[in-house]
Amino acid sequence: MRRLIYVPFDQLNLDYGALKTADPDHDLIALVESNRMTTGRNWHPARLHFLISSARHFVNQLQEAGFTVDYRKAPTVISGLDSIKSEYGSLPITCTEPSSYRQTESLRAYGANFVANDFFLTPRPLFEKWAAAQKSYLMESFYRAQRIRLDILITDGLPTGGSWNYDKDNRLPPPKKYVGAPYLEHPQDEIDDQVAEELGYTPSTTWATNRDGALSQLHNFIENHFGEFGPLEDAMTTDNWALHHSLLSPYLNNGLLHPKEVVDAAITAFNTGTIPIESCEGFIRQLIGWREYVNGMYWHLGPAYRDNNQLNATRQLLPLFTDPEKTSMNCIKQTVTDIQSRAWVHHIPRLMLLSNLALITGTNPQQFLDWMREVFIDAADWVMVPNVIGMGIHADGGQMMTKPYAAGGAYISRMSNYCKGCDYNPKLRTGDTACPFTTLYWDFLDRHQAQFAGNHRMRQQLFGLNRLADLAELKVRAQEVLTGLDRGEI
Ligand code: SF4
Repeated sequence: MRRLIYVPFDQLNLDYGALKTADPDHDLIALVESNRMTTGRNWHPARLHFLISSARHFVNQLQEAGFTVDYRKAPTVISGLDSIKSEYGSLPITCTEPSSYRQTESLRAYGANFVANDFFLTPRPLFEKWAAAQKSYLMESFYRAQRIRLDILITDGLPTGGSWNYDKDNRLPPPKKYVGAPYLEHPQDEIDDQVAEELGYTPSTTWATNRDGALSQLHNFIENHFGEFGPLEDAMTTDNWALHHSLLSPYLNNGLLHPKEVVDAAITAFNTGTIPIESCEGFIRQLIGWREYVNGMYWHLGPAYRDNNQLNATRQLLPLFTDPEKTSMNCIKQTVTDIQSRAWVHHIPRLMLLSNLALITGTNPQQFLDWMREVFIDAADWVMVPNVIGMGIHADGGQMMTKPYAAGGAYISRMSNYCKGCDYNPKLRTGDTACPFTTLYWDFLDRHQAQFAGNHRMRQQLFGLNRLADLAELKVRAQEVLTGLDRGEI
């Protein structure tokens, strides 16, 4: 063997990165299941099961392709690589550029040679070039440039269908008793069972752990859900847990799927004329817009970005995030219960329920970031740091988003069926049955009025705040709500 190629658990693809040019006769492939990864934090067991079982299935795929593979457990990745090297001799180490700052630094210090990370559609230097030319990092500008650069949904140099953005068509509330097409079940195999036994956890059949399963998930989305995805993409309902969302982010984020093949499948389906433009554009926006933008911003903003706390938020993580029985807020109880069973909810509950609640309660950004990293199956560092610190809780002072995503109960009531089964009333901001979101939304604006005063995008909200006749009463209720949330009694 002439070279050792180290494969992290989020780069499980033979066709990209360092493996693209690997040679079974001369390259030894190493995967390390580190204790740091498995027991270092309070990870959701579904997430651990998915990542570990996917990596072990990938070992089989590599071996079937003729590679010599060393998969071992070790306290850390570096100690695992040390023990592999002690057996095979001191081979030079090659690795695709890792997806996080921490792993990049640790492998760089170990002397690894990096191959450019092509698990995204935008090379890191290209994003830097875009970011360097911006006054503000508007995702919409990046997305339009991506559409043109990648020639996706572009007709004769203009956006296909006549518009760059169909968001206005994609904000339908959930229909009553909505059923829709079923989601795939992925039966467990021996490897899944073995990992489950080691973790002492019984996984659901929601998530596939190999390339074939990931591909069937892609095909199921394209065949059965893609057409209806767009209009309902922001809706939330207790009647249907995924509401036509693709469920592809775990596979995109661990390498089992590459964004290019997902884009190609979406555009091929759109070209048959069976997929409405608003569904196709909404999906493409997530893939070539948001996903690429967030990854680019992670690297652009630097390693210290995660420590931001520009709103000086000091509240300890609320008990309801780890125990849904600690709240009577139906929207949060349902969402946290869903997370506990599948390690997933779609982007609107993440943003407009969980992050919104952390934002308006003044929860410490780093504690909330840690929780979000731990509980979601697709929660890579590169996606959660910008999404939480920048987009979710505005802890960066507006570096990423021009205004905070704060909302009261009216938005949640409009976009979900949660409020009908709730002890609280989304229309009320004071009194014992006032919706905590509604009360705390106004209280949040009041607490940060001075900071937001110069932000023209907040003018309307602050105008509304200053017209409230019951602000003094609301502030008293807000303190009761915050104390109740801290105690797990709201
Ligand atoms: Fe959530 Fe408020 Fe609606 Fe209850 S009333 S479900 S707390 S938004």
